[in-house]
Amino acid sequence: MSNLTAALYVVATPIGNLEDLSPRARRVLSEVDLIAAEDTRESGKLLRHFGIATKTTAFHEHNEREQLPRLLSLLQAGKSIAIVSDAGTPLISDPGYQLVRAARAAGIPVIPVPGACAAIAALSAAGLPSDRFTFEGFPPAREAARRAAFERLAREPRTLIFYESPHRIAASLSDMAEIFGPGREAAFARELTKHFETIRLGALSEVAEWVRRDENQSRGEIVVLIRGAPAAEEGALDAEAERVLRILLAELAVKQAAALAARITGARKNLLYERALDLVRTDPKR
Ligand code: SAM
Repeated sequence: MSNLTAALYVVATPIGNLEDLSPRARRVLSEVDLIAAEDTRESGKLLRHFGIATKTTAFHEHNEREQLPRLLSLLQAGKSIAIVSDAGTPLISDPGYQLVRAARAAGIPVIPVPGACAAIAALSAAGLPSDRFTFEGFPPAREAARRAAFERLAREPRTLIFYESPHRIAASLSDMAEIFGPGREAAFARELTKHFETIRLGALSEVAEWVRRDENQSRGEIVVLIRGAPAAEEGALDAEAERVLRILLAELAVKQAAALAARITGARKNLLYERALDLVRTDPKR
C-alpha cells in the first residue's frame, strides 16, 4: 500500500541517459494508480527498464478530448495519476497542459516531479548568457512563417532557445544566420546525454556552414540557442522600426523603404537607410 498523496504528478523522464531518472520519479511512477503516457510503447521501454509495473494509458494531442474527462474523474475519485511524455518534462513542447489546467480547476493537487529538460540542459552547458532567456519551442515548419517568426525575434535581448527537427535544421540555421546576422553567437546542442552528444558554440554563419557540410550533424535531437541582440545603442532602431523596414525592403528600393519607414515609425531616416544597406548587403535577394 503506497502512502502517495492522491494527485496528478507531472513527472520528467530522461532525454537519453536513463540514469537521469530521479529516485523520486521512479518511486512516484511505481506508486501511482495509472501513468498517462504520450506514447505507451515508448514509456513502456523506460518502465520495463526500471521494473515498474504500473498500468499505462495513452494521452496525447489526438485523444486528449476523450481522455481528459476520464482521467479527471479518476483523479476526482481519489486515484493518483502520473503524466509522462516520451522524453524530458511534460508540457514543454509536449502534451499535458489541458490536463494540468483541468485538474487545477477541479481542485486536484498537481505536483511536479522535476528532471531532465533538453532546453535547460542545453542552456546549462552552452556558454551563452543564462540569466535571462526565452524558450521558443519549434519554429514554424514553413519557410515564410519561420522567417517571419525569426524577424519578430531579431532584436530580442534575451538568449533564445529553439527546438528543431533534423529535417529542417540546415534550412533553419541558414535562415537564422541571415536574419539574426551571420556574426551572432549561437550554440548547437545535439543528442544531449547520449553517445553522440555534441555541443558547439560559434558564430551563426560558422555553425550553419558546419551543419550543412557534415550530414551527421542533422541526425538525432537538436536544440539551438542564440545570444540575445546587443542592447540598443543611443539612437539605434527599435524592434518596430526594424520590422517595418524589413517589410518595406522586401518590396521597395533601399532609399524609398528607409524614407517610408521613417514616416511610419518616426525613426531617424539616416539610421533606417544605414540599416537597410546592411540588410541588403547580407541578403542581396531582398
Ligand atoms: N519535453 C521535452 C523536454 O523537456 O525537453 C521536449 C519534447 S520535444 C517534442 C522534442 C525535442 O526536444 C527534440 O526535437 C529536440 O529539439 C529536443 N530534445 C529532446 N531530447 C533531446 C536531446 N537528448 N538532445 C537535444 N535535444 C533534445
